[in-house]
Amino acid sequence: MADRYAEILVVDLLGGIGDLIMLLPAIHGLARRHPTARLRVLTHEPGAELVRVDPAVAEVRTPRHGRPGAERAAVVEALAARRPDLAVTTTRYDGIPDLLLDSGARCVTDLWRRPPPDEPVGARYLRLLHAEGLLTRADLTARPRVRLPASARAAGEGDVDRLVAAARRATAPPVVLVTAAGMAVKRWPDGSWRALAGRLAAAGHPVLTVGADDDPPGVPLPPGDLPTLAGQIAAVARRGGVVVGPDTGPVRLAAAAGATTVGLFGPTDARRYGVGGLDLQGLPQCPHRRPTAITEQPCWWEARCPLDATGPACMADLGVTLVTDAVRAATRRPSLVWQVPAG
Ligand code: SF4
Repeated sequence: MADRYAEILVVDLLGGIGDLIMLLPAIHGLARRHPTARLRVLTHEPGAELVRVDPAVAEVRTPRHGRPGAERAAVVEALAARRPDLAVTTTRYDGIPDLLLDSGARCVTDLWRRPPPDEPVGARYLRLLHAEGLLTRADLTARPRVRLPASARAAGEGDVDRLVAAARRATAPPVVLVTAAGMAVKRWPDGSWRALAGRLAAAGHPVLTVGADDDPPGVPLPPGDLPTLAGQIAAVARRGGVVVGPDTGPVRLAAAAGATTVGLFGPTDARRYGVGGLDLQGLPQCPHRRPTAITEQPCWWEARCPLDATGPACMADLGVTLVTDAVRAATRRPSLVWQVPAG
């Protein structure tokens, strides 16, 4: 592949940590195939923390404020600061694709075109960039990986060491519960989390948590920035531990930091949004799920499920026994491809 680009700008202003993590293989692929290029990323905080420590990224820019129009203004500023030869964006609102096209750069502005319902979002990005001649076939199977400084790994080891040593009757690898979710419709019921934590603790697993719950069902990991969390997760993974949680940024971060994950998928389709560990799908036959248009689902914004007035039926469908068995199987043999029992 000819190395034609000296300045590459990647724009991901979709807003979620998970959105940026799904794009990491594309960022790393572009850096690999254009090794002399200066690659900049324009994204939101706190995801920006992850790419600031990434040696593949020369500069990270973020919007200056949270008011309407901040993202468009940030694109204008990025283009004025340095004109890119190549611009790639996941973001299509506020005329951002036209701004990039007007810069005269070669642009890839539609990474969401004709998405198949069963193709993972990140794999779709790679396939489209390969079709544009910007990546090679070898890039198509890349998975998200966060690149961590040694200091974040060392700090994570220290944190996890202390928490595991303090756990009573710790005879099995640690398990991290990611209980929160940005969208209410993705939350697993609180009672299910507590039951899972009790069963895991009884089986000898130190139970740790991520999130801001007032009364968490396990011992919280010390708070910090995203590289700190990734360092802690990497330490959990090194001990054969597992991270379990819904379709959220921290669970994607855990997989990208090397942990085995158990994903609890309800309103989103695990075939398209799966994290790549053991992804469990609640109520797979729900007729309201729209894998390629999740924001148009009747349950999406207000967590009102047409099938159950008390809460998302798909999340409730993921039983505590099923999830406990999946987590236990993953901790016993992290590379095992565990099968969901039939029926
Ligand atoms: S309609 Fe209900 S069961 Fe279906 S995806 Fe939405 S929350 Fe889940």
